[in-house]
Amino acid sequence: MSDLRELYQQVILDHNKSPRNFRELDQFDHKADGHNPLCGDRVTVFLKLDDGRIVDVSFQGQGCAISTASASMMTESLKGKTVAEAQAMFQEFHDMVTGSCESMSGVSKLGKLAVFQGVCEFPMRVKCATIAWHTLNAALDGGSDQPVSTEE
Ligand code: ZN
Repeated sequence: MSDLRELYQQVILDHNKSPRNFRELDQFDHKADGHNPLCGDRVTVFLKLDDGRIVDVSFQGQGCAISTASASMMTESLKGKTVAEAQAMFQEFHDMVTGSCESMSGVSKLGKLAVFQGVCEFPMRVKCATIAWHTLNAALDGGSDQPVSTEE
């Protein structure tokens, strides 16, 4: 398990060092801002949808390694997904990091995102891992002028 944990850490550090899709989209139809005041993470998610499918997704912001890596891997996982699939992934991801660390069945559905399952051992970090996903959800819902906060 420790080898696995080390591998997971490598993946997170790599995404933090060189986040994927870290830019503002030239053209987007959905956008939302998120804020995790407990840690100071800020993220903005941009989405371009076509016929109910996510054709492009990107993010910007500043936060800790977990929040940046989570946003980076989220954008990679979402491209080409339908809105319904994206919302289902949000739910599964949320369940994985907020669930008990013992019951890890079903995480395989999340593929690479399973690297965040170790976060369940660090309750303070759960919000860092989920802020990008909450922001995505808000963007899919049409966005809002108010930033999404983990503290509401
Ligand atoms: Zn954080």
